[in-house]
Amino acid sequence: MTTRRAPKPSPFPPEDAMASFSVEEVLRVEEVGRYRFLVGRRNEMLDDICTLAKGLFAAHHAAVSLVGERDLWLLTPEPDAPTSLPRSETFCSRTILGDDVVVSNRADADPAMARFWAQCRDEIQFYAGAPLTMAEGSNVGALCILDRKRRTFGDGDREHLHKLAVLAANELQRQRTLLELRDQQALVSQAAALARVGSWDLNFATGTIAWSEEMYRILRMDPARPPLTPEEFADRMVEPADREWLANAMQNAVSESRAIQIVVADGTRRWINLIGEVEHVDGVAVRMLGSIQDVTELHEGRVQIERLAYRDSLTGLPNRALFTKQFQLEIEQARIQGTKVGLILLDLDHFKDVNDTLGHDAGDVLLQSVAERMTRAYRRTDTVARLGGDEFAIILPDIRGAEDMTRPTEVLMALLRHPVEHGDKVFTISASVGGAVYPSDDDNAAQLLKSADIALYEAKAAGRNRMVTYKPAMRAIVEQRMEMLREVRLGLSRQEFVLYYQPVVNIAPEAVTGLEALMRWNHPARGLLPPDAFMAAFEHQDLAAALCDVTLDGALSQMRAWIEQDVPFGRVAINVSAAQFRAPDLADLVERRLRHWGVPANRLTIEVTENVYMGWGSDVVGNTVRRLHDSGVLIALDDFGTGYASLANLKQFPIDRLKIDKSFVQNIDDQAIVRAVITLGASLGMKVVAEGVEGLDQLAFLERSGCDQVQGYHFARPMPGAEVPAFLRRFAAGDEIARSA
Ligand code: C2E
Ligand code: CA
Ligand code: CA
Repeated sequence: MTTRRAPKPSPFPPEDAMASFSVEEVLRVEEVGRYRFLVGRRNEMLDDICTLAKGLFAAHHAAVSLVGERDLWLLTPEPDAPTSLPRSETFCSRTILGDDVVVSNRADADPAMARFWAQCRDEIQFYAGAPLTMAEGSNVGALCILDRKRRTFGDGDREHLHKLAVLAANELQRQRTLLELRDQQALVSQAAALARVGSWDLNFATGTIAWSEEMYRILRMDPARPPLTPEEFADRMVEPADREWLANAMQNAVSESRAIQIVVADGTRRWINLIGEVEHVDGVAVRMLGSIQDVTELHEGRVQIERLAYRDSLTGLPNRALFTKQFQLEIEQARIQGTKVGLILLDLDHFKDVNDTLGHDAGDVLLQSVAERMTRAYRRTDTVARLGGDEFAIILPDIRGAEDMTRPTEVLMALLRHPVEHGDKVFTISASVGGAVYPSDDDNAAQLLKSADIALYEAKAAGRNRMVTYKPAMRAIVEQRMEMLREVRLGLSRQEFVLYYQPVVNIAPEAVTGLEALMRWNHPARGLLPPDAFMAAFEHQDLAAALCDVTLDGALSQMRAWIEQDVPFGRVAINVSAAQFRAPDLADLVERRLRHWGVPANRLTIEVTENVYMGWGSDVVGNTVRRLHDSGVLIALDDFGTGYASLANLKQFPIDRLKIDKSFVQNIDDQAIVRAVITLGASLGMKVVAEGVEGLDQLAFLERSGCDQVQGYHFARPMPGAEVPAFLRRFAAGDEIARSA
């Protein structure tokens, strides 16, 4: 102890030599601060040490002092002793500067002692003090004895005083540790309360269990009640599904952490994290210490975040992020188990138009209703996700083959046919669907997605409102089609598209009543191409509009010319594809072009196919059709019988002509259908036109069945406009009939 502190100041250094700014002094003052809590409090052990010192040395007073920066505090059982004095005037302030016991018989010369003496109404002559050296090395104060008389203080006395000082220092240290421990415990329990962690201690040998306060709070139990045994806890609070796990964990003394839902004493549901740690002695489990944490808010927050991050807020369906995750998982699962997974991509047909024309509210309602129908059509184990906008995807795990995708999709399509009501509006929607199967089509998630996308593209190109299942050959077809569309764009800029005209002949009396304008592509390398070679262009968003202009302007400029040349062409029918028909303001466009070319509306017929009327927003299409019809344009329903429309569906639209598809006309087995369509058309006041009449027998049959008009190679193939006047002249003269007879 004597060697620990390097500079050994003399017992009575002058006051101004006190190293109040040394690092040691700063550390010491800081250290003293840790014991200040003892000032003004009674401490039995320190009191005993003082009493012991007083008796041992037969002194008048004994005290423990703490020396701060400016003050000195006295800890002593003496009733009259002051608690604090100015430090500078005390012997103790000198004692703390060294390691040795300081003794003085001139204590009365000390001004502070004099005051102390005055306060104690006592004459003090003698002082002896031993420094209190703490574990950190600082002297925080002294143990001192005071006497009224001068006395001798031998080495033995010094030794004893020193030992007592060590005892006092130890007691200070102990008190401090206790305090810190109490603080820590308070912190721990505060932290436990804040973190909502309750702990329990289960003794396996005795079967007793102890709970922390927080444990009671979390479980909403009266703290006066005894803690529940693990079995009672399981029975009363744990959900049956988790009971087995809990029992097992307890029985096998397994340390495990798990989040479970419990029903606490007041009946509310909470989520807790449960963890237990088993203590072994000689390989035997003796005790299980565990804690539960109330994570309800955390859990609910997570669920909420999960919902926000993984759910589409409009429909509540999984979003793209969750779809991607789930899709990868399902593929992985299928790879391991050797099962098949179906993937469906679904696009609503012309959804953009619904939004544009009926408003976003209607669009939202529609999306919600589609989402709801989708969840109804597919299995509960299937994942129906909204990828964004009007794009949906369905993952169908564990299917046997493509049929397992097709069947529910047909159900969905049927559900979609039921109109959606919103405010005073009623509208329908259709969907284009592409499907692909893992692993038969492709063997990774990305490839499968691409395959389904190609199939979807096919479904759209084939006229939408249908499902197409991916076949490997489609990939090449898609690539070819992309190339074709690129070429069409080029061909449009080079004005390679022209119209040919095919006569429409009235059966009785036999006369040409009009012409149908059919597009041809004067391809620089491949020659004259029929629309088959570029059909997809009619449904391609930009190209469709450009081709529509070609048809409209081509036909109208031709009609203008024929009108001026007095060519009796009757009317001209133009074909308008679904994509072209749904272009905004088609009615406007047609009216403008009619005016521009000075062609009366009643000389124009517009041919549309059933799929124009099917699907979404029939009221928008209806408006366009009605406007055109009201302005005098005739409306013909083309390819009747090939689509899904029933005449009942179409009754709401003004339709003047019904064109029976050539596949029926040319198939002898379909004669009954042809007759039925003719009868139906007649009963609805429509004229019926039969297409693809190639032979006299067909013509005879149609005539017998009451068909009004025909079109076909029997009379003429489509021809360039320049050949029409001559044809009409020959026909009127009876030449053509003579030729084909
Ligand atoms: P569509 O409207 O059904 O036209 C009738 C098709 O039948 C024409 O084929 C015509 O050449 C063909 N055809 C006429 N009589 C006979 C016959 O006796 N036997 C056989 N086998 N075929 C006959 P085309 O010209 O190849 O046109 C195909 C389709 O392309 C048209 O079918 C129409 O849907 C579309 N299309 C043609 N021009 C246009 C156009 O300007 N705009 C739009 N949107 N589509 C057009
Ligand atoms: Ca047509
Ligand atoms: Ca047709």
